[in-house]
Amino acid sequence: MREQRHVLTPPAPGTTRELLSLHFGPAGGRKAYLQAALHADEPPGLLVAWHLRQLLAEAEAAGLLRGEIVLVPMANPIGHAQRLLGRGIGRFELPSGENFNRQYANIAATAYAQLRPPIAAGTLPDIASVRAALRAACDGLPGPSELESLRKTLLTLAIDADLVLDLHCDNEAVMHLYTTPTLWPALTPLAQLLGAELALLADDSGGDPFDESCSLTFSRLNALHAQAGGADQAWPEACVAATIELRGETDVCHEHATADARALFGFLQIQGFIAGATPTLPPLRRAPRPLAGSMPLYAPHGGVLVHRAALGAELRRGDPVVDIIDPLSGVCSTLASPVDGVLYARESGRVVHSGTRVSKVSGTEELRSGQLLSA
Ligand SMILES: [Zn+2]
Repeated sequence: MREQRHVLTPPAPGTTRELLSLHFGPAGGRKAYLQAALHADEPPGLLVAWHLRQLLAEAEAAGLLRGEIVLVPMANPIGHAQRLLGRGIGRFELPSGENFNRQYANIAATAYAQLRPPIAAGTLPDIASVRAALRAACDGLPGPSELESLRKTLLTLAIDADLVLDLHCDNEAVMHLYTTPTLWPALTPLAQLLGAELALLADDSGGDPFDESCSLTFSRLNALHAQAGGADQAWPEACVAATIELRGETDVCHEHATADARALFGFLQIQGFIAGATPTLPPLRRAPRPLAGSMPLYAPHGGVLVHRAALGAELRRGDPVVDIIDPLSGVCSTLASPVDGVLYARESGRVVHSGTRVSKVSGTEELRSGQLLSA
């Protein structure tokens, strides 16, 4: 295992932070990239990465690694240092208010411009050449702020990978994952191994989250190539990427984390990064659903939040999901499920303000459009 340290742009003199990446197995061939806790106060991924790190070290010592596996065990040193009145603030950068998992660069146009000479000469560059162009495009990204340099560093580490897995969690949630419909067949075994209750699919979620900046690159390049008159040629979808939501933020225990790390390890075996017998796949828990069918419920007023439905419950439209009780007026507002669907995530605080998203129910019909991810 090789360690690399990546220095971020210092926000002020004397305040340098760095990102650590761990590199297992032989570089130069196929590459898998995994990172934990891009939203810094999402600890399940940190523990899973710690267990996975040991599994990978053992596999490397046994000579079983067939490709490079890059593990960033703590993807957000900026967010980890943010505390306000004793509480961690990991989703947004405090100085800018920006979400750490949004606004990743779309570098397809820059890379495509670099690929134009061989294309003009009649040759569609191979995947290795495309990846070299993607790396060059990442090198050229600006990184004037600490946050932008973090985004640039993470994207540079992942952009030439065959597989990208971004480990997150929700407030309170069942195991679920996000990816595109195109990539879902490749990721189905991962959902099976993780015991995911749900996979939420979208061609483009909006907001440019990290995984999509990797996974959408080849479809974006193909779109540019088609616009330039090359519709008869296309690159394959060479980057399989997903965001994995490792249940809720307090679901931090060795039982879950060892099972999740073994699931990731097993998927790396299936993908050919690790030699050895591949694991038996348990059945898929549920067919994937459109992210556009995930319906948020919002508190109409502030008060005490009382969850009335269990996580993972199959709800019918009209079933009660939460009560919100205003202690002053005595009003109790019951929010009902807007669709038949699975209650897969919910708010962890039990006192909420008006407008708080308190629950997410995943239905089967596409009812939303535009920005499909929360802020
Ligand atoms: Zn997250």
